[in-house]
Amino acid sequence: MKRRILTFHGVGEPERLLDPGEADYWIGLDRFCDILDRVCHHVDRDKVLITFDDGNLSDLRLAAPELCRRGLDAEFFVLTGRLGKTGSLDPDDVRWLLKMGMGVGSHGIDHRDWSGLSDGELEWELGQSKRLLEEICGHHLHSASIPFGRYNRATLAKLRACGYETVYSSDGGDATTGRFLQARTSIRGGMTDAMIDHILDGHLPAMRRLRRAARMTLSAWS
Ligand SMILES: [Zn+2]
Repeated sequence: MKRRILTFHGVGEPERLLDPGEADYWIGLDRFCDILDRVCHHVDRDKVLITFDDGNLSDLRLAAPELCRRGLDAEFFVLTGRLGKTGSLDPDDVRWLLKMGMGVGSHGIDHRDWSGLSDGELEWELGQSKRLLEEICGHHLHSASIPFGRYNRATLAKLRACGYETVYSSDGGDATTGRFLQARTSIRGGMTDAMIDHILDGHLPAMRRLRRAARMTLSAWS
């Protein structure tokens, strides 16, 4: 089945210092609620998956309650190196998300570009974050999302070797259920209603379609 996967990062006011360029990916609570309502009313609502990256505190404080209110769920990709730090989730928060019916996966430890790491560094980012989250969640964990959407063959091979079964990129467009690599679209604060509807409808501009095709062929070779 084809589906569309949205990625959110932060909702409301950040409670930590943001990295350069990160503010574009934070959206106000009202806008977030608008987008969730658009998902709920979309003809393909059942084909839309919602994900969150970075493990910001707003995942639990703001986003999860709004999801529950609408009967939606989501998968939250956590950075274990930020757990318990100001503005980020702590281990109890992660367990709360699970109790609320949400899924949890790894986004690595320190929010590094996985395509630029040595084999040993990559092993540490992927393996150690998985082990720690499994300890916190009390069950096996099979999914990861790729920081900055940057990956190469070595990244995908190491993800498989570390036991991940589903990996979320930021390549845009449709994703096919059951595939190892799942393309997502990041939602930015400045996106218009028309842009959101295009994403929900599965439309992808021609240039992005070409870039996506070039990147995703990598997965066939990993
Ligand atoms: Zn991230």
